[in-house]
Amino acid sequence: MLTKETALMVNISGPVRPGIVASFAKALLKYEIEIVDIEQVSLQNTLGLHLLLRLKEGSKFEDSIIKDLLFECSKLDLTLTYQRIPEDEIQQKSRRKLLVLTHFGDTRSIAELSSVLAEENVNIEAISSQSHHGARSIEMTINITGLSNVDSLKNRMMDKSRKLNVDLAIQSMAACRKNKRLICFDMDSTLVDMEGIDEMAHKAGVHREVARITTKAMRGDFDFETSLRQRVAMLKGLTLDDVIDIRDRMVFSEGADELLTTFKWLGFKLGIVSGGFDIFAEYLKDKFSLDFAYANQLEIENGALTGKLRGDIVDAAQKARILNQVSCDMGIPLDQVVAIGDGANDALMLSQAGLGIAYNAKQGLDRIANVALSRAHFNHIFHLLGITEEDIDEAMSCKTL
Ligand SMILES: [Mg+2]
Repeated sequence: MLTKETALMVNISGPVRPGIVASFAKALLKYEIEIVDIEQVSLQNTLGLHLLLRLKEGSKFEDSIIKDLLFECSKLDLTLTYQRIPEDEIQQKSRRKLLVLTHFGDTRSIAELSSVLAEENVNIEAISSQSHHGARSIEMTINITGLSNVDSLKNRMMDKSRKLNVDLAIQSMAACRKNKRLICFDMDSTLVDMEGIDEMAHKAGVHREVARITTKAMRGDFDFETSLRQRVAMLKGLTLDDVIDIRDRMVFSEGADELLTTFKWLGFKLGIVSGGFDIFAEYLKDKFSLDFAYANQLEIENGALTGKLRGDIVDAAQKARILNQVSCDMGIPLDQVVAIGDGANDALMLSQAGLGIAYNAKQGLDRIANVALSRAHFNHIFHLLGITEEDIDEAMSCKTL
């Protein structure tokens, strides 16, 4: 007989058909059984239904309950196993810390990533996959309760995915389930497949000089503002017509058009937060009806660049401040904000957002981000935000009307 310290774990499997949950729930209702926990998954035509049951104190019906459940199974061509679990071994769902991993790989990546989890002694609680829009994503819910170094696990997973060349997202379960409402995009080498300053330097015939400063800045010889002002100074005299010519030939990153159109259609707030230049950012803002665009402002006089900048410099810290300010102004909490960027000056902005996406980024930024996406994999963002192929098709067909 079951005592008050005992629960019953029931596992049912077999062919899918309508009415299975109803049949078992009705059978249990007769005995006033409490269903403490329930999970069901189905793959193709086979289901697995798992029930954790607790009887009222002093229940005398264990044998009858099991007989009734087995009877329902025989009617529905299902298989049943069960085991008793002492009360003190039942894991409290509310106390678990869960992360959601989404990866875009194959059997090898499932094997390698789950091996890392096993080495870290982390259980996978659920796995599911979805395929649409030319990509398949696999989502694993993992239990990190009691894990002492979560950052180490994240870094190991990001390193492994980089080696496997598969995109990977790691989010807390709570953040994952919150609907995202605001997306801040970096511009150069993220939304567009170019660096505006390099194109302008080519046009002005100072590409080598500008590249030299860029290299020094990357080495840490200058801060971002100093290197930006030095490079812009070299562009003095470049005509507005030349800049407009570059702007009109700007190439979008693969999938960027579809991404912006779909998010706009779905009602997301969208904008650009760029360390590049206003003339390009404003153009994109108008073209895609974005809600905002922040970038460095080129000073133009008599139809040519003066080699100076106007207003505040948009550097890494300013990008993060803008993201905070915009989310504040729009009344959207940070954990409902997505930030996407490729460069070192996106790191702070990505770390502030509920979902920070490193796009085609160098090692380092992907450690700060929740997600590392390869070049031309913008459409993987649809999977992460639960957007379906139907949403995308509808958005794109509305655009062409
Ligand atoms: Mg960039």
